[in-house]
Amino acid sequence: MYLIDTHVHLDLDAFDPDRPMVLDRARAAGVGELVLPGVTRARWPDLDALHRQDSGLHVAYGLHPLFLQDHADDDLDALEAWLDTHPETVAIGEIGLDGYQEGLDWDRQWRFYTRQLAIAREHDLPVIIHSRRALDAVLKGLRQYPGVTGILHAFIGSPQQAQQAVDLGFALGIGGPVTYDRAKKLHRVVRDAPLAALVVETDAPDQPLAGHQGERNEPARVTEVNTALATLRDMASQDMAIITTQNARRILRLPNGTAQ
Ligand SMILES: [Zn+2]
Repeated sequence: MYLIDTHVHLDLDAFDPDRPMVLDRARAAGVGELVLPGVTRARWPDLDALHRQDSGLHVAYGLHPLFLQDHADDDLDALEAWLDTHPETVAIGEIGLDGYQEGLDWDRQWRFYTRQLAIAREHDLPVIIHSRRALDAVLKGLRQYPGVTGILHAFIGSPQQAQQAVDLGFALGIGGPVTYDRAKKLHRVVRDAPLAALVVETDAPDQPLAGHQGERNEPARVTEVNTALATLRDMASQDMAIITTQNARRILRLPNGTAQ
């Protein structure tokens, strides 16, 4: 089995004590590649350093809406300059809108979100999107930038919203929440979505899986997410792994891996 964790914050402090062991466990579980999204300008160099140590780590750079207070307006220009000198960038991310967290200036979020969509289009890169209680606004933004595709990470929405995302060329990033019995709406989305629109992720260290509540999440557990998807689609885990891996490669335009 070969899997790609399409969303893992391996650069965060939570992994400082044992990052190499976390990666070893991921590889031992069959997680050959990991996609690391950026959250703030100050952390981009850490991602760059990680990526240089390991060819199975792919990097995305962006300004995350939850860190709005940390972003300066000229970080957007800095992002463009950074892309020019970092051609290994696989996506712009993590970008998006958060309507849940209090105290985030909505207009400023919108400005950072749409400007980064414009940068993605200009640089011909996919996007990795954070959307919490903001999906209709996120989709509205995407319609203003036709041709920009990518992943709606930690997808939570209705089957109708899922269909709109798929119609816009987006994949649905499915993670730990799908492993909970109570996630009936998400289960329905996974059952109804085209197989070509499903990618797996952990969002580690966040979003622990069922049975691991309160623990630090880690990329090895994307195997359990993949198995949950396989069960929902009445397929073998192996077959689902081939599909989610191919989807991640296609959407993020990753080169073919060495192992399958
Ligand atoms: Zn994230």
